[in-house]
Amino acid sequence: MRQLDAVVVGAGFAGLYMLHRLRGLGLSARVFEAGDGIGGTWYWNRYPGARCDVESMDYSYSFSEALQQEWQWTERYAAQPEILKYINHVADRFDLRRDVQCSTRVTSAVFDEAAGRWTIETDRGDQVSARFCVMATGCLSSAQAPTFPGLEGFQGRWYHTGRWPHEGVDFTGQRVGVIGTGSSAIQSIPIIAAQAAHLYVFQRTPNYSIPAHNAPLDRDFERRVKAEYGEFRRQARESRVGFVMERNDVSALAVPREQREGEYEKRWSRGGLGFSATFADLLTSQEANDTAAEFFRAKIRSLVRDPAVADLLTPRDYPLGTKRLCVDTNYYATFNRDNVTLIDLRKTPIEAISPHGLRTSEREYAVDSLVFAIGFDAMTGALLGIDIRGRAGQPLRDKWAAGPRTYLGLTVAGFPNLFMITGPGSPSVLSNMIVSIEQHVDWIAGCMTYLREHGQATIEAEAGAEETWVTHVNEVGHLTLYPRANSWYMGANVPGKPRIFMPYIGGVGTYRQICDEVAAKGYTGFTLQ
Ligand SMILES: Cc1cc2nc3c(=O)[nH]c(=O)nc-3n(C[C@H](O)[C@H](O)[C@H](O)COP(=O)(O)OP(=O)(O)OC[C@H]3O[C@@H](n4cnc5c(N)ncnc54)[C@H](O)[C@@H]3O)c2cc1C
Repeated sequence: MRQLDAVVVGAGFAGLYMLHRLRGLGLSARVFEAGDGIGGTWYWNRYPGARCDVESMDYSYSFSEALQQEWQWTERYAAQPEILKYINHVADRFDLRRDVQCSTRVTSAVFDEAAGRWTIETDRGDQVSARFCVMATGCLSSAQAPTFPGLEGFQGRWYHTGRWPHEGVDFTGQRVGVIGTGSSAIQSIPIIAAQAAHLYVFQRTPNYSIPAHNAPLDRDFERRVKAEYGEFRRQARESRVGFVMERNDVSALAVPREQREGEYEKRWSRGGLGFSATFADLLTSQEANDTAAEFFRAKIRSLVRDPAVADLLTPRDYPLGTKRLCVDTNYYATFNRDNVTLIDLRKTPIEAISPHGLRTSEREYAVDSLVFAIGFDAMTGALLGIDIRGRAGQPLRDKWAAGPRTYLGLTVAGFPNLFMITGPGSPSVLSNMIVSIEQHVDWIAGCMTYLREHGQATIEAEAGAEETWVTHVNEVGHLTLYPRANSWYMGANVPGKPRIFMPYIGGVGTYRQICDEVAAKGYTGFTLQ
């Protein structure tokens, strides 16, 4: 069996940077990637309109000053092809490809207690032994498969936004049905509507979406950032969400109505995710949140001509921001087009896919193509897709049967030398993920160095430390309004998945401090052997 220092699973932003750091430590490593190419999210999600909703100057690696100086983004928010180009540039620049094996899915990772090593197996028949196993499998990489009855007999074509054909799809002249109105749907609907003869949008839950106001990147802004990129990155690392947004310490309820509306209006015109930071308590006080939600609802009414359609597009049963806030270009206005019809699946649920369309409880819609924008088995899906077994052969699937349990979102008790990048229990999906990825990779690399310098073979989370962390993550989550939404943060979009608020909401900066302190004190909460 091939012997390695480390195996990394996944070749997105996380896996590639992990490989770079492992090389720097002089460790032998192999990256296995299920996709036929590198890039993770940006390899798979090629649907029309796929775009980052964190600004380009923030959503990029910071580990190399030369890299961040030489790369030039073209837009305020980069589109998928540009991000994929960037990742490929990074892979070439740092000569990463020779240790990446694509088209290879890791099927199992089993800890051999006697040897103190992991045995990793793939669907290509690889079997390797590694001291460390790093899961860089992604929080949003396990696409939900459509399970509608009748799909196998559908005579048209169907697509999943998270598995989009590389050659693209031309919907010109077609009748198209989009199922879902989450972020991917909100990005793709305006573009599909402009092509299609008719677009039917099948909605279960309306989302709050804010305009991106995307534009070519302001070159003055770029120059200013690049002149002091180090400081710009430092502030991002210490921020709450991994990029600096103008914060406001004041409660939404502490200011007069006109002033409050003025603040909302300002943020709306600026566009992007900063809206949720308009006031200090939007995500902790229902009353405060209601003021922002009402502002949004008025905006939807003003943007959508047909009051019945506007009403249907208006979220009412969960607080703003507790499902990921979407960022769009012309989403609401698209529903003013004559060739777009919105269908309320709460009133008239889908009964089946028919050979030539889709049947709800009310009627049949004839379509040529169906687009499933139905999201992901978030945060745990990709991890539990692998048969991971720790001490005494304990399956991770058993350990997490009632929901994920980790220490710091990085490690699991009973699973020595196994690391997760942006695992459940870390800020992950609540942050600019590149910042969170770099923080985790750096922490893991620091930990490996420490083990080497102290002559230790393994590191393992203690059960008590894990328990305390799980409780803390849960408590902090419940101080906010997040658990009030049936969101994918809560596992609510996957039938049968335990309802737990999975990410850590304590803030990126605070979380980093906690992780750094654990390390500085000789890895408190861990057993080193
Ligand atoms: C449409 C979309 C838009 C997004 N927009 C933003 C944004 O605006 N801002 C932001 O911060 N984040 C965004 N994200 C989150 C995004 O996933 C992260 O920013 C980042 O790309 C994650 O990188 P990663 O390497 O951790 O995971 P991924 O990019 O998901 O890569 C994980 C890789 O692991 C592979 N893998 C999984 N299991 C296995 C296995 N068993 N064997 C082999 N390979 C495996 C997968 O194929 C995948 O390629 C978005 C996600 C999506 C889906």
